[in-house]
Amino acid sequence: MEQTITQKFEAIRPMIGGTPLVEISLRFRGKERKVYAKAEYYNLTGSIKDRVAYHILKKAYEEGTISPGDTIVEATSGNTGISFSALGRYLGHPVEIYMPDWMSRERIALMESFGAKVRLVSHEEGGFLGSIRMTEERAAKGGAFLPNQFSNPDNVEAHAVWTGEEIVSQFKSIGKTADAVVAGVGTGGTVMGIAESLKKANPDCKVYPLEPSNSPTLSTGYKVGKHRIYGISDEFIPDILKLEQTNGVVSVDDGDAICMARMLSEELGIGVGVSSGANFLGVLLAQDSLGDDSTVVTVFADDNKKYLSTDYSKPQIPEEGYLSKEVELLGIRVIR
Ligand code: PMP
Repeated sequence: MEQTITQKFEAIRPMIGGTPLVEISLRFRGKERKVYAKAEYYNLTGSIKDRVAYHILKKAYEEGTISPGDTIVEATSGNTGISFSALGRYLGHPVEIYMPDWMSRERIALMESFGAKVRLVSHEEGGFLGSIRMTEERAAKGGAFLPNQFSNPDNVEAHAVWTGEEIVSQFKSIGKTADAVVAGVGTGGTVMGIAESLKKANPDCKVYPLEPSNSPTLSTGYKVGKHRIYGISDEFIPDILKLEQTNGVVSVDDGDAICMARMLSEELGIGVGVSSGANFLGVLLAQDSLGDDSTVVTVFADDNKKYLSTDYSKPQIPEEGYLSKEVELLGIRVIR
């Protein structure tokens, strides 16, 4: 018998969330520290965005803003598109993804493998902002559902009621609460949502959005320079990121982020993407203000498989001032 939409949501739910929280012990500038990171590559399609796609689609069905047969149309730098492709097709929807043409080719191939139509958008056509404009033009023709991840409050809610709550209870199981959260900003959904639940457990919990130091969109308000931390710092400050509710932006060099991601892979077997390397370094920067012993959490948003055709796979020459040069990884403990 064919499953109803409700049964389909229930059936796939155990494939998303419930990810391990990894405690990584290290020495930084000779002092022992711990970094906590939620291993989000354990999700259905291998990234944190499965939670967002699932939550947005489920709410859209509950609220009647999506109809069977509607085409799901989204602008994305990658992971959101992959998640909407897999879940959208699973639920029986056509999926159209608009994406800047400079993203890694693994992303395009993955979306197509999940049955989506991918439209690449060049710099001349407007890049990221052009992709968003094209989704709006497509929606105007009718029969489309726009998740609008950059302005949809359900993106933040997915992390407030789900990712963040899991972190709170995983910390509780080891007798801790978080002193801060750090996360690289694409839409800002991760950092704002997790912050919401961590602040309920500890009202003093600090919130640090992260951006590439060589392309500081959050500090300037517009696209500046170039960077290689795919998935963050697109071209503008997203609506759902409330900078005034945070404790300031931390910034990390993209080459340093690649070096850190590679170290986690080479030395601990934790094969994560470049934004995860940046997030790890962001935790160290937060601890510089909050103390070596502070409990600071971040996310490993995805794994390294989507970056094998990028600079991630090229040996990096650590530059003067890289934080990763001063990190000595010691070991892990996993909290389920
Ligand atoms: N890292 C990666 C690899 C991502 O794909 C994204 C989402 N684009 C982020 C970090 C940032 O997450 P958010 O959109 O929730 O800010």
